[in-house]
Amino acid sequence: MMTIGVLAVQGAFIEHEKMVEKLGYQVVELRNKNDICNLDGLILPGGESTVQGKLIKELGMFDQLKELIEGGLPVLGTCAGLILLSRNISNDEARHFQTLPVTVERNAYGRQLGSFRTTSAFGFLCDVEMTFIRAPVITAIGEDVKVLSRVDEKIVAVEYKNQMGISFHPELGEDTRVLEYFLQKCRNFSKGQ
Ligand code: GLN
Repeated sequence: MMTIGVLAVQGAFIEHEKMVEKLGYQVVELRNKNDICNLDGLILPGGESTVQGKLIKELGMFDQLKELIEGGLPVLGTCAGLILLSRNISNDEARHFQTLPVTVERNAYGRQLGSFRTTSAFGFLCDVEMTFIRAPVITAIGEDVKVLSRVDEKIVAVEYKNQMGISFHPELGEDTRVLEYFLQKCRNFSKGQ
C-alpha cells in the first residue's frame, strides 16, 4: 500500500486526506519529524503559509522535508503549499523550502475576488474544477518548469521534476483528477525506487 504524507500543522489538510483515502491510498499526518518515514509522496495543503512555515521549523521538520523534496520525493503544494515550495515570493520577506524555481505573488486576487470557483484545462485534462481561496499566482517561472494551467492568462499550476505547485484547492469539490495525476507520479516514483 502506498503512503502519502500530508502536512498537518495548519490549514486544509483534512480535505486532502479524505480525497487521497477515497482514491485508495494510505495517509499519514505529518505533525512532527517522527511522522516522516516511508513516504511515497508528500502533500503541502492550503492554509496560511507564514504560520505553516514557522511551525515546520519549530516542529523540527524543515530539514528532513527539504531533503526529501530535493531527493525527488513527489510533492504537491497547493495554495499556501505552493508558496512554501517557491524560490521567490514577490510580496513577502519570508522564504521557505525554495525548491521550486518560480516566483509567486501572495493573495494575488486582492480582497474583492478573494474566493471563486472556475473550470479550466489542466495539462491534458479538460474542464477541471478549481477553487481559489485568497490564492497566490505564479508570476515567473525558471528553466524546465512546465505550465499545467492558466486562468485568465495567469499561471495557476506548474510542474517541475517531481514537484507540483498549484494556486487553487484541488481537494475541494468532486473532481479528483488533479489528485490522481499527482498520485500517478507517486506510483512511478515508488516503482523506480
Ligand atoms: N493566502 C494564503 C497565504 O498567502 C494562502 C491561501 C490558501 O492557502 N488558501 O499563505
